[in-house]
Amino acid sequence: MNYKRFIFAIIILMIILLGIYFINGDQLFNDKDKEAQKAEGTEFIMNTFVRISIYDKDSEVVLSNTFRKLRYLENIFSKTIEESDINKLNNNAGIAAVEVNKNTYDILKESHKFAEITKGSFDPTIGPLISLWGIGTDDQKVPTENEIRQAVSKVNYKDIEFLDSNRVYLKKSGMSLDLGAIAKGYAADNIIEYYEQRDIESAYINMGGNIYVYKRKADNSLWKIGIRDPDQSRGDIIAILNLENTSVVTSGNYERYFLKDGVRYHHIINPETGYPAKNGIISSTVISHNSSYADALSTSFYILGVERSFDLVEKLKDIKIILLTEDNKAYVSEKLKAKVEFTVNGLEIIYR
Ligand code: ADP
Ligand code: MG
Repeated sequence: MNYKRFIFAIIILMIILLGIYFINGDQLFNDKDKEAQKAEGTEFIMNTFVRISIYDKDSEVVLSNTFRKLRYLENIFSKTIEESDINKLNNNAGIAAVEVNKNTYDILKESHKFAEITKGSFDPTIGPLISLWGIGTDDQKVPTENEIRQAVSKVNYKDIEFLDSNRVYLKKSGMSLDLGAIAKGYAADNIIEYYEQRDIESAYINMGGNIYVYKRKADNSLWKIGIRDPDQSRGDIIAILNLENTSVVTSGNYERYFLKDGVRYHHIINPETGYPAKNGIISSTVISHNSSYADALSTSFYILGVERSFDLVEKLKDIKIILLTEDNKAYVSEKLKAKVEFTVNGLEIIYR
């Protein structure tokens, strides 16, 4: 009898132990108990060094998915990659409509919308002018007036035709798309959408000055984002922004340009005149949750100049700006007042 009880007790004990094992074992495969970790990487994508850091339970997986997605977008948006959607569209301008990937259709739709909002100062069909000037390439030169006139006549976002839900047609021969002013912003938005779906804990994306900070830093503090000083003799940074969960995009004339007879020819071209924008602005920063928007607008404000830029900002939602001008002034959205610290002396700061 005692012996039977003993066996019974052993069996009960084994059932309890097995139960404990299954509960714990199950947890071994459960994400919830994983520790968040940091993963960081840098790759050269879209003509710039892309630096990403992620803080999450699956940070390595998220990081490699991020780079994979960015390479995919580069492969469909690039002007120079033979098989890209953009190259196919450019080669078929005035000839035929082209079937494109969903992201290409998307970015072109957005570009079209931003071109309307900015009255064509941002224009994704700027390609002929960009090729003509060749700024940043071995062929950079000041073109003749005639060449410029010719190229300007090919630039007009209204000549992009959207057919069905995946076909696009460039109506004029000689037209060409160039997504240099929006592709990085669009890519950042795309990545952030993925982070939101996965609900990751924290991330920082820097695509050559196009920045997105996702949520707060891992230690729950705000991100500090430096705005580069266009006057490099003064130092690296002109201001620091304290932000969370937003995009910060800067366009400047100090990165890609060439000098000829004392004139600085930089890479933001006014689609109307065909010449590099010259409106007193030397750096334009846009803060927005929408990075495509920020990217397109930062390029556009450069062309519009201070007054027209602020007029436009007043009509838009979720857009704050910092414009630095040649005469050493910083024009800053009032709403940034509590978030920005200027770090140089002798700069006149005007909030509006
Ligand atoms: P960066 O490339 O330095 O980040 P921007 O976002 O301002 O700077 O984009 C500049 C690029 O955009 C140029 O190299 C060119 O490819 C393209 N671009 C230049 N002028 C315009 C314009 N008016 N509208 C649209 N794209 C432009
Ligand atoms: Mg831009």
